[in-house]
Amino acid sequence: MAQNIPELYGSLVFNDKIMRSKLPKDMYKALKKTIQNGTHLELDVANSVAVAMKEWAIENGATHYTHWFQPMTNVTAEKHDSFISPTGDGQVIMDFSGKELVKGEPDASSFPSGGLRATFEARGYTAWDPTSPAFIKDKTLYIPTAFCSYSGEALDKKTPLLRSMETLNREAVNMLHLLGNESVKHVSTTVGPEQEYFLVDKDLYKERRDLIFCGRTLIGAPAPKGQEMEDHYFGALKPRVSAYMHDLDEELWKLGIPAKTKHNEVAPAQHELAPVFDTTNVAVDHNQLTMEVMKKVADKHNMVCLLHEKPFEGINGSGKHNNWSMITDDGCNLLDPGKTPSENTQFLVFLMAVIKAVDDYADLLRISVASAGNDHRLGANEAPPAIVSIFLGDELTEVLKTIENDEYFSNHGAVQMDIGAKVLPHFIKDNTDRNRTSPFAFTGNKFEFRMLGSAASVANPNIVLNTAVAESLRQFQEKLKDTAPEDMEKAVHELLKETIKEHKRIIFNGNGYTDEWVEEAEKRGLYNLKTTPDALSMFTSEKNVKLFSEHKIFTKEELFSRYDIWLENYVKTLHIESNTMCEMIRKDLMPPVFTYMEQLANTASLKKAVVSDISTSSEAGLLVKLTELQDKMCAGLETLKKDTEQAEDLSDISASAKAYQSKVLADMEELRGYADAAEALLPEELLPYPTYGRLLFSI
Ligand code: ADP
Ligand code: MG
Repeated sequence: MAQNIPELYGSLVFNDKIMRSKLPKDMYKALKKTIQNGTHLELDVANSVAVAMKEWAIENGATHYTHWFQPMTNVTAEKHDSFISPTGDGQVIMDFSGKELVKGEPDASSFPSGGLRATFEARGYTAWDPTSPAFIKDKTLYIPTAFCSYSGEALDKKTPLLRSMETLNREAVNMLHLLGNESVKHVSTTVGPEQEYFLVDKDLYKERRDLIFCGRTLIGAPAPKGQEMEDHYFGALKPRVSAYMHDLDEELWKLGIPAKTKHNEVAPAQHELAPVFDTTNVAVDHNQLTMEVMKKVADKHNMVCLLHEKPFEGINGSGKHNNWSMITDDGCNLLDPGKTPSENTQFLVFLMAVIKAVDDYADLLRISVASAGNDHRLGANEAPPAIVSIFLGDELTEVLKTIENDEYFSNHGAVQMDIGAKVLPHFIKDNTDRNRTSPFAFTGNKFEFRMLGSAASVANPNIVLNTAVAESLRQFQEKLKDTAPEDMEKAVHELLKETIKEHKRIIFNGNGYTDEWVEEAEKRGLYNLKTTPDALSMFTSEKNVKLFSEHKIFTKEELFSRYDIWLENYVKTLHIESNTMCEMIRKDLMPPVFTYMEQLANTASLKKAVVSDISTSSEAGLLVKLTELQDKMCAGLETLKKDTEQAEDLSDISASAKAYQSKVLADMEELRGYADAAEALLPEELLPYPTYGRLLFSI
């Protein structure tokens, strides 16, 4: 692989360099203006870009183009059109117009819409998002697009994400201007999502219905070894894994995805990939692509990449860490403490805006990561609890305390160091006290939101984060807007003080995994929304409808439609899991159990001639155990079937979700206990499906 990486990097991306070389100067400038300021794109510019894109794509082997979008599922959608256009004399030319670039009209009737779009007008349309670069994959030019209904309602994740970025931009810029920083024209949010995943052998995967249909194991006795030796985390990469990771990096680099860090994770067969951060919109697209490429490359290596949040019981599941910050067009990270007093004030204002946002909308943040898969992690002893709280670290917490107690701006405050007035101690940045149990941690110059599930798009949490922080900033401006410049410093100080008082309950630097914290959080009045149905019940509250509609992220209708889709997705997931479990136990597990029982019974009956009391023989003992387990499994299957039918029959979707959560999941857990106990008793040659031991330790 003696490749020139800088040359390879982005070689399949229609990036700035290509645009500059391929577009006439005025067209290039017009396009850049649209990308940077979101101004309207004229048709002549679109035509010019289309021609350049097509030429470049064809040079690089593409024959088709597709409008790539993100419907309200967790995967992306695409429909491919070829560039060919018949010329009437039996020949074709390769054609692509500006109109085809900027707008597509896929038949949208089979995507979830939550009732937003009646089926008789099932056409949606896709609109080019020029802020996320086009790329080539599988001989096709991929054009990132937003997906809307004809009346303009968002049917995807990109539209509200772009709206939320715009809202945050507006409020942040206004806030900075109010603070006297008038040169800033634009504020973007940045995201670096760390992605966890499992790798299993493809041949083993194919023998498990649960992995095929659900992406996770529904049954399976524990392997003799799990993660207790702590020998996998950051361990040396096995040759097959290493080859996979090299291939993966290369594929991602070609697509302009800055894959940076890779390592083994805590659980056996678990790994992680982290890219260099990017603008939120691009980071979200790139994370979707990363997940796709991870699966594709695994397939080439005869492995399967599992992105489910909890593929295996008894060992860690997979999450995603959403590193998030805000950056100005002149390159200032607004969550970086800075070196001068004014930079520090700016930092504190934006820091407090985030703290307030997380406290005011903790329910929405929890909702934004809710899924059937993630419910197996949140609150368990491996992932942050379902309670949203913020880790700030001791130093920064101390700084806030001095502000609250009027010591910070005085001459003898604890934080007042010899380095000049009102400058934060810079060691905050090197704060190494990384609390891994916190769901929302300040890590020196960014926040890390750690509740995300590994399989989900990172769009939702960022929509909530951007909008909630924009709302904090809006309220801050409300309070400061009539202040004379000479009184600003004092007014800001008062605002910070007041905000700290009001929201310090959300700050918790201790261990989030303890029972004491659960009690303490309850005393503080923090939410503890344990399951997806619990969490989603808050989604459409008055407060949340107000937030989203005032900032024009979601109309009330859009919000309610999303609520329905979300619950439906939860219900469908559990329905499939319940069906799969029944099928696996009936068709895979019970037959070999019967076979083994027959063998045992035969042996016992032969032995009868030579032993005085057969009932004390080992065969009889095993037979009794298996009979008991088999009976319990049969009864358990009946209960599961009955409860699933009942949950399915409920016409109210939230009642149905609740029934799945409280009844069906509990049935499945009980049934699993019997199945795993039976599996553990079977001899190797009768095992119905690959064991945990083989799945986790064979690569
Ligand atoms: P850790 O494992 O300690 O959390 P990593 O190096 O694995 O750290 O991941 C850190 C992530 O944070 C990377 O994806 C990085 O690009 C991202 N990041 C760093 N700075 C910012 C920032 N200003 N905004 C958003 N993400 C950032
Ligand atoms: Mg991290």
